[in-house]
Order: sequence, then structure tokens, then C-alpha cells
Amino acid sequence: MKEKIVLASPHMGGNEEKYVKEAFESNWIAPLGPQVDKFEEDIARYSGKKYAAALSSGTAAIHLALITLGVKKGDKVFCSDLTFAASCNPIVYQGATPIFIDSERESFNMSPIALEKAFKEHKPKAVIVVHLYGQSADMDKIKEICHREGVPIIEDAAESLGATYKDKMSGTIGRLGVYSFNGNKIITTSGGGVLISDEEDIIKKARFLATQAREPQRYYEHKELGFNYRLSNISAAIGRGQLEILEKRVAQKKHIYDTYKEGFKDIKEISMNPVCDYGSPNYWLSVMVIDKTSSITPLDVILALEEENIESRHVWKPMHMQPFFKEYPFYSSEEGDMSVGEDIFKRGLCLPSDTKMSEEDIQRVIKTIKKLWR
Ligand SMILES: *Cc1c(COP(=O)(O)O)cnc(C)c1O
Repeated sequence: MKEKIVLASPHMGGNEEKYVKEAFESNWIAPLGPQVDKFEEDIARYSGKKYAAALSSGTAAIHLALITLGVKKGDKVFCSDLTFAASCNPIVYQGATPIFIDSERESFNMSPIALEKAFKEHKPKAVIVVHLYGQSADMDKIKEICHREGVPIIEDAAESLGATYKDKMSGTIGRLGVYSFNGNKIITTSGGGVLISDEEDIIKKARFLATQAREPQRYYEHKELGFNYRLSNISAAIGRGQLEILEKRVAQKKHIYDTYKEGFKDIKEISMNPVCDYGSPNYWLSVMVIDKTSSITPLDVILALEEENIESRHVWKPMHMQPFFKEYPFYSSEEGDMSVGEDIFKRGLCLPSDTKMSEEDIQRVIKTIKKLWR
């Protein structure tokens, strides 16, 4: 069996162990602690947002974002349709109704046209904008619409830490931003997330709710429903080390993307996921899209790669096509029977984008795929 090539895996930089050792030496083997405080400062400084709350997952961060914005039972929340279920599950946790917004072809992200359509018929409490595979959505257009409607934006930047939109970091344009440090993301804490904002009261509230909504009393006092959503001091120590090498990982991911692009340039039926000129992506996952006219499907490619012990995956299946979410409203960006998200889902697949891959590994992926087109 050939050596396995994976989609994306944790890649330590070196200092993580040092910080974990600090945590051990001070016996801070607990949720919260000095590493968490430092990690929150590091994230705030890096992103340019004033405050950060380190949490147990990106999903928890989205959930607390909704709560702090007052999303309750019966409310509506708009959310990108082409995404991972973690973007919208917390809407349902709150008993609110998700309303799904189709993608645009230019960025694969939320279409301002579909967003306008949805606003004609609904008044949501918040809009969750996802930056897919590390490419930022076109935030100016989305922001203009949401601003006009007076609706706050939560940026689900779980996949786009390190990417930019114009001169800002992805995730810092909305009122609230979310990053994830799950094991497959560009950097990891082995599991974790963060909520960022310029509003101190929101972040303080998120920290409070994440620590069981425990009132500052000598006895245990609770006036609100709380959660156990805080990050552990050990995980935060890993995160501090990871953040130091984030830029390096972005450069490596870009190299992987560029190598695929170059490798497939003579095959007309293959294109790569879009890179928009209003910023730079973090290239978290490279996605190839097969032309409509081709007889080769993403599954053919996935199976051919599997034969060679290479991992690849379908693009996220749009939420409006999911059995669990199919009863909720959905707004398509184009006329016609197929939405943009569905079209991307049917023709796209995620290629190995692991920063531990060697040049030979990347070439092995390209060669295996090209064989199908011979
Ligand atoms: C990974 C991911 C999340 C969830 O993050 P977790 O830390 O795994 O909870 C949310 N949204 C998107 C788009 C993601 O890719």
C-alpha cells in the first residue's frame, strides 16, 4: 500500500509543546487559565478585533453569537446554504428558523442577489455569512444590504482564519466573527473555537454564558441558562504555538493550490475554486470543479484517488438538500431549476491540502487525477 495522503491534518510548529509544558509546570490542567487569557489576547491582536472569547468549538462560538444577539424561539436567521451543518445547527438549538441563502459563482459564498430576495420576504434577527474553504465572501455588498435592513452579521470564518478581505482579516467585518480550531482546520487546538468582536459587553457575556452562567457570588447562583463551552488551558497552549506559524501555513496552502492549478492547466474540463481579487484566501482546502460537459464525476475522481490511498471529499452538500433542513426556506441566486450551490456540489471535490505533503505527494495526486482524463 502506498503511503497515505490525507485531506488536512494537524501540523505543529514547534512552540506548542513549550506552552503546554508551561501549563503542566504551573498545574493549570483545567478549563481556563493563563494560556487561555494569552491566547485570547493573541487572537484579538492577530485579527484586529478588540476582544476574543476562547471556546470549546467553533459551533459553540456560533451558538453564543446567536444568543448574545438575542436570537430566540420563533426568530429567523439567514445562513449561507453551501456550508457545513455546524454553521446552522445552532440556529435550531435556539428554536429559531434557518433560512438558507444560495451561493454566487464568483466566490462560492453568499450571493447578494439571493440575499435580497430573502429580505423581500423575511426579517431575520441575524445573518450568518460563511467564508468557504478560506475564500472570503464579498462582504461589502452583503454588509450594505444588512446595514440597510438593520440586521447584524455573524461571520462564520471557521475555515478562513488568515484570509483577508480588502485590508481586513476575514471574520472581522461583521459585528461578530467566529474561528474554529478543529483538527482539520488551518491551525488547531485539537478542538476549539473563538468568538471575536469589538464590543466588550458581547464578549464578556459570551464568556459568562460559556462558564455555566455562574453569577459572581460565593454560592452557586444562576439567573440564566448556561453552557460548558470554555476552552481548556492545555488546548489554548497549543493554539498559541499554532498562531505563531499561521502565516507559514497559509503560504504552504497557497503553494498546494498553485501547484494543482498549474498541474491541471492543460485539462479544459478541470477548474479550481475561485480566488477573488478583493483579498487573499488562506487556501484552506483546494477544490477542483469538473466541467458540466464532462462524463467524469467527482465520485470517479474520489474513487481513483482512494485506490492510490489518497483522501479526497465531496464539496459540502448544500443545507437545503439535507434531509434535516429541507423543510426550511431557501433562496436561489439564479433562475432555473438548479441552484449554484447544488451545481458546485455536483461537480466539485476537495483535494488533499495537507501542509505535510511533499512535492512528490502533490504530484502523485495530480498524476492520479490526470490519468482519468487520458
Ligand atoms: C469547522 C466548521 C465549523 C465548526 O467548527 P467546530 O470547531 O468544528 O465546531 C463551523 N462552520 C464551518 C463552515 C466549518 O467548516
